[in-house]
Amino acid sequence: MSIDVDRFRSALEAEQVRLRHALAAVNHEGSLIEESGDLAVGSGDHIADSATDTFMRELDEGLEENAEHILEEIVGALRRIDDGTYGVCVVCGRPIGEERLEAVPYATLCIDDKRAQEQP
Ligand SMILES: [Zn+2]
Repeated sequence: MSIDVDRFRSALEAEQVRLRHALAAVNHEGSLIEESGDLAVGSGDHIADSATDTFMRELDEGLEENAEHILEEIVGALRRIDDGTYGVCVVCGRPIGEERLEAVPYATLCIDDKRAQEQP
């Protein structure tokens, strides 16, 4: 199998930049909000001024930790691209699948192992 690694590298690097901006916005209490628009929400909806306080609280509580976690995953994925192990499930060693990588470019598990992990 041959996946287009360069395409995923670009996607990962773009996501890395986006998350760093989002984290910077959280850490600087909205100073970057106007510039970066909808940052991490991803909906493209304009955030009304009245909603910004709530939005920033949610960012403080959830996103910062989550974004840092995802950033780590992205760094790991970029490393696997360099190693030549990108796109291979870390549990079973089978290809993760290009469709899944398009949805989650930093995925380390194939869909079967991901589902198995999510079982209660
Ligand atoms: Zn697997």
